[in-house]
Amino acid sequence: MRKLRRNLTLSERALIDIITSSIEVYKKETFGLLLGEKHKKHYMIYDVLNFQTAKRSYEWVNVPTMRINRANYVLSHLTDLKVVGDFHSHPDGPARLSGLDKKDTKNSGLTLTVLVVINKIKRKVHGWMIKENNLVGTIGNRYHVKIMAYEYDKKQDKFYQIKIVCSCLKKMNKLKIPKKS
Ligand SMILES: [Zn+2]
Repeated sequence: MRKLRRNLTLSERALIDIITSSIEVYKKETFGLLLGEKHKKHYMIYDVLNFQTAKRSYEWVNVPTMRINRANYVLSHLTDLKVVGDFHSHPDGPARLSGLDKKDTKNSGLTLTVLVVINKIKRKVHGWMIKENNLVGTIGNRYHVKIMAYEYDKKQDKFYQIKIVCSCLKKMNKLKIPKKS
């Protein structure tokens, strides 16, 4: 029987942080850590930690394990949350993990990595929704956002795409947006 994969549940706050930081630095890549809990059936992400000083380039970002360990050390003295994954963006794609991304995740010791793909658009395409496991949506008529989650299976040494869940999408679709913004 095929093993049931975990879901990724994002809190509203985590989702907004991920999207904002990815667009803020467009067309550069952003990088951050996902804080929350790893359960048997899902990852629960409450918060994110952005790495302002991460070495950013158009092609890759990297934060060594040492920084993850340090973040975990600090967090353990402040909260119950732990670093359970990381995220980074691909401005204008591609909508898949690169070889280097996979290598970085393996080296980090984390089993969850999230990819945010940002593309410029000329008009709104659709609202916020889960489409083929990915969380997709648009920011006004300017950006298309696609969030993809992957779980690294250490035993099989393989990456699996997992489904994203977020209860705040309906709310985001109902927002009344001021004309001038
Ligand atoms: Zn990448």
